[in-house]
Amino acid sequence: MFIEPRVGNKNYASRRGWIEVICGSMFSGKTEELIRRLNRAKIAKQRVEIFKPAIDTRYHEENVVSHNANAIRSTPIQFASDMLLLASGCDVVGIDEAQFFDEGLVDVCMTLANNGSRVIVAGLDLDYQAKPFGSMPALMAVAEYVTKVHAVCMNCGDIASYSFRKAASAQKVLLGETDTYEARCRHCFLEGMKEK
Ligand SMILES: [Zn+2]
Repeated sequence: MFIEPRVGNKNYASRRGWIEVICGSMFSGKTEELIRRLNRAKIAKQRVEIFKPAIDTRYHEENVVSHNANAIRSTPIQFASDMLLLASGCDVVGIDEAQFFDEGLVDVCMTLANNGSRVIVAGLDLDYQAKPFGSMPALMAVAEYVTKVHAVCMNCGDIASYSFRKAASAQKVLLGETDTYEARCRHCFLEGMKEK
């Protein structure tokens, strides 16, 4: 389990920023892990802001809601650069569904961390074709800490790293739940792609 190098240091002079990435397939618990870290920061009386792309409207408009309905208030934004203004002076900045943000996200995260914020980014590392997704690979490169979480293959029960799309749509941004996607291991993902 990820343990923070530091949680509640309010001394501004010693404030140091860094970037954490939480990545994995669908149903791997990325958002749960993001919420866990943010709640710990809140307990330490840190100022926390949470953002998600305005595109992700599956659940409640203003909440980062994970699949286990463990909700936390968040702000939907259009562009990654909106965060620079909205997150100024925050101790901890949480970002969910990071793969859907524009390419400016990497620079935004760097600026926030350079200015002393702890930045925690959660997102899909691979799209439904098993290709690196959006800014995630670049974020993993610049982050101090990368945590890859795993789901369970819904076909065979092995460890799963891939999001298999059961529907036929070729649209990259297709939001959905268990009826559209399932987590799969490498073997079952390849088998499923062959069948298509
Ligand atoms: Zn499998």
